[in-house]
Amino acid sequence: MSNKIHKCIIIGSGPAGYTAAIYAARANMNPVLFTGPEPGGQLITTTDVENYPGYPGGIGGPEMMEEFRQQAERFGTDVRYEMIAKVDFKTGKNYHTIWTDGGDELHAYTIIISTGASAKYLGLESEKRLMNNGVSACAVCDGFFYRGKEVAVVGGGDTAAEEATYLAKLCPKVHLLVRRDELRASKIMQERVFKMENIIVHWNTQAEEILGDTKVNGVRVVNSKTGEKTVLPVEGFFVAIGHKPNTDIFKGFITMDETGYIKTVPGTAHTNIPGVFASGDAQDNVYRQAVTAAGTGCMAALDAERYLVAEGIE
Ligand code: NDP
Repeated sequence: MSNKIHKCIIIGSGPAGYTAAIYAARANMNPVLFTGPEPGGQLITTTDVENYPGYPGGIGGPEMMEEFRQQAERFGTDVRYEMIAKVDFKTGKNYHTIWTDGGDELHAYTIIISTGASAKYLGLESEKRLMNNGVSACAVCDGFFYRGKEVAVVGGGDTAAEEATYLAKLCPKVHLLVRRDELRASKIMQERVFKMENIIVHWNTQAEEILGDTKVNGVRVVNSKTGEKTVLPVEGFFVAIGHKPNTDIFKGFITMDETGYIKTVPGTAHTNIPGVFASGDAQDNVYRQAVTAAGTGCMAALDAERYLVAEGIE
């Protein structure tokens, strides 16, 4: 254990974490950034990113995150390829304590949480195998590649309803696979789904297997009431059964909603704990875009910088 108290530690290495690092490093906060188990975050599993401004020709998700990392390091961010296993935000001092999974203890006056969220998947072998080759968990990110093609969306919540209506504007036929006989989605989202003539809702239906060797060319579904199996000739399979914010280690310290998303003071990155800020998908279950995550990462670094000034920490 070192007695050093860092000005700023950032946990997470998606667009939010790296943007926070760029701002914090340029403000002489000498940030240490812990990448977590998946350096680069969710974009690492994305092929082409076409909706991030500044890349007119699009860019691969992994390449984009590599550029974010380089930009953060260029200004002196100390990027460490480790996970944070435990935190203590109630030290009774004006700094916080965190531990890496290797057992190292570190202290910081400000902590920026950018641990993101993970899409939930069905757990099918074919889903894993065909990931990014027809299987996706983000219609806004990948829907464009399925223009003019028949697709399926699985889920019955607001995300599934939103993804299905989004895709219905691009695709001739969208099959919405709902495991029960009703949608969990809000009434207004349900109305939007039912209004779109090219969304076919399959009630009591679960995906049994996604078909295709190297890319999706169908999905075999089963009706849980009748046992009937059908093959839908889809080329895209969108999983929209929810996300899980990666916030477990902060439970008991940070105020969260019932699903684990961190609550921030509206219009800021402040959490309920002075000196602890949150950005990106760990605190956003609505927008979840790389560009919005980057925006809130910037906010978190600026809020952290102002906090240090207000606390008189040089
Ligand atoms: P939800 O948890 O609300 O819904 C998940 C859906 O997926 C449910 O219908 C569930 O079925 C279904 N599901 C879960 N597991 C499986 C499985 N293994 N096989 C098949 N279906 C499955 O998640 P969402 O991501 O939709 O929403 C999360 C939160 O974010 C909600 O509070 C939502 O309101 C909010 N949100 C808001 C938006 C907005 O305001 N624009 C947009 C998107 C989300 P079942 O119903 O049977 O449990």
